[in-house]
Amino acid sequence: MTERTGGCMCGAVRFTATEVPDRIGACHCEMCRRWTGSALLGVTIPLEKVEWDGEDHIGRIQSSHWAERGFCTKCGSGLYFRVTMEGDYSGGIELPVGVFDDPNGFVLSNEIYIDHKPDSFAYAGEGRKLMTRQDCIDKFAVLADAPQNAAPTGPSEKEETR
Ligand SMILES: [Zn+2]
Ligand SMILES: [Zn+2]
Repeated sequence: MTERTGGCMCGAVRFTATEVPDRIGACHCEMCRRWTGSALLGVTIPLEKVEWDGEDHIGRIQSSHWAERGFCTKCGSGLYFRVTMEGDYSGGIELPVGVFDDPNGFVLSNEIYIDHKPDSFAYAGEGRKLMTRQDCIDKFAVLADAPQNAAPTGPSEKEETR
């Protein structure tokens, strides 16, 4: 746990995050793949532990019925993934490791949607927790059952991803 600063490519959006865990996760879902161009390597921090500077330049896209992604409206850098639906997974914000000024010192501890990872690359090291797409759907089904989403109409496969 430590304080880390970061920001987007152009510097319009900056942040200071406190009590940043050193454990990070990778998501190989299709949405993260397209959003990042590879996989989302991120660290999850309570919302209130992140202080933004230049918040006017943060654009937000509701990427699924339960989460949004923030980006810099000037340079396009991806800044965060956040669960917007009330419940067990709200209240946290996932910052991509690459937006930190010093992205060193993190430990990759889990990979999700591992069965969707392209065969073109793999992260080094062993001992990580791995979850398939189905594992994730089983785990996050709690989100789909939340009262705020009581009457979803024909959820598409996209909505099942992050
Ligand atoms: Zn920017
Ligand atoms: Zn994802």
